[in-house]
Amino acid sequence: MDTATLESLRSALRGPVIGPEQPGYDEARKIYNAMIDKRPAAIVPCADAADVIAAVNFGRDNGLEVAVRGGGHSGPGLCLVDDGMTIDLSRMRGVRVDPEARTAQVAGGSLLGDVDHATHAFGLAAPAGIVSTTGVGGLTLGGGHGHLTRKYGLTVDNLLSADVVLADGSFVTTDENRHPDLFWALRGGGGNFGVVTSFTYRLHPVDTVGLGLTVWPAERTPEVLRWYREFLPQAPEDLNGFFAVLVIPPGPPFPEELHHRKMCGVVWCHTGDPDRTGEVLAPVNDPGPPAFHFTTPMPYPAVQSMFDELIPPGLQWYWRGDFFDRITDDAIDVHAKYAANIPTELSTMHLYPVDGAAHRVGPDDTAWGFRDAVWSGVYGGIDPDPGNAGVIRDWCVGYWEELHPHSMGGAYVNFMMEEGQDRVHATYRNHYDRLSQIKRTYDPDNLFHANQNIKPAP
Ligand SMILES: Cc1cc2nc3c(=O)[nH]c(=O)nc-3n(C[C@H](O)[C@H](O)[C@H](O)COP(=O)(O)OP(=O)(O)OC[C@H]3O[C@@H](n4cnc5c(N)ncnc54)[C@H](O)[C@@H]3O)c2cc1C
Repeated sequence: MDTATLESLRSALRGPVIGPEQPGYDEARKIYNAMIDKRPAAIVPCADAADVIAAVNFGRDNGLEVAVRGGGHSGPGLCLVDDGMTIDLSRMRGVRVDPEARTAQVAGGSLLGDVDHATHAFGLAAPAGIVSTTGVGGLTLGGGHGHLTRKYGLTVDNLLSADVVLADGSFVTTDENRHPDLFWALRGGGGNFGVVTSFTYRLHPVDTVGLGLTVWPAERTPEVLRWYREFLPQAPEDLNGFFAVLVIPPGPPFPEELHHRKMCGVVWCHTGDPDRTGEVLAPVNDPGPPAFHFTTPMPYPAVQSMFDELIPPGLQWYWRGDFFDRITDDAIDVHAKYAANIPTELSTMHLYPVDGAAHRVGPDDTAWGFRDAVWSGVYGGIDPDPGNAGVIRDWCVGYWEELHPHSMGGAYVNFMMEEGQDRVHATYRNHYDRLSQIKRTYDPDNLFHANQNIKPAP
């Protein structure tokens, strides 16, 4: 982009425009996954919805590739685009809680930690993900699962309305009654339909919760998974527990003799009476005594940020995922194999429960395509050293390839790299055609295509 073009964009905005020649450019194009090294021609950190409108109009009228950045946690770096424009919402953070109505209005560039902090003051919480530095934007638009899913549903099941800047530059508020087709599509369809400048969520009474961590040696993965697959789905909905294969980090609460050891385990979040968490989790002894079992009451925002330090921005990430409605014996063999050969200390596999309250929403009520899934699986290759990028990728792809035949065939859209159109279809299943029609209505020229792209219907 030449200087005059950049200047004309600048004059339309309250926020700055950061081009490759500007100081701060390299900082502005950094995202969470350090494996991504994209160089936009312009980064536009918007100050408000008016800036977003100006940026969308400018990008469209000048034929630029356009990407939208919320929290910057996209694995494949879909929030940046080489040589195009990134509409950066990272300055648009803020949360207004209405404690009486039990709702929160959240600016489109906010992070999960912003929401947890603001709502906790009122003893309330919005169901979202498990790492506080994740953006509400990408997480919500993809569906959003975390510690509260079994009790209160996906993030999209708690979305009440959204303010959206559309591809033609118009601004709409959408909910069940206003542009219901758009509202349906936003609840799982990703960033395909416009730039969301504000989300309104339903909140729930969540204050101090019972945190639990239970681990067993990796070689006991088969018996632990056989127990977990039976225990979790029939457990009360106020108990959430995601299964993991992992290497124990060298720090509390884990005893020193477990540090750096390959293990499997479950991270529990109990939203019932925290004094009863120990009792609710007594069955963890059923597959044989764990190497370590720890429970404690904890303020919900502390649970939400407990992984932040372990996985700061700037690591190499490669991930893949799939949905599962059961964990077969054959799948367990694959988990046992990959648990034994985790390539780096931070690499991990998680199975997040997506049953309970998430199953009480009808299969066609939102764009989320897998109401019949019980787990959303992700294999994450993670390491600080760029020299290990190949190793973590190979572990992840190998894990995925061997487990995919035992899956439901599609993945959570937020756990995909750039894996091609077949995988996008597999994510949305029978919802793809409807999404594609809605895309034609709201973005017929596919301006918003830096995402897991839904093509406008012809
Ligand atoms: C450490 C870590 C932990 C995670 N944990 C969870 C978890 O517990 N649960 C879960 O469900 N997911 C989880 N995820 C996945 C997460 O949901 C996705 O990475 C998601 O895309 C992050 O959103 P973001 O806004 O931070 O990302 P970005 O990279 O900014 O955006 C991702 C996509 O969303 C679009 N987008 C973002 N904001 C907006 C907006 N306001 N309007 C329109 N489009 C927008 C972007 O254009 C891009 O296509 C995790 C990811 C990481 C890295």
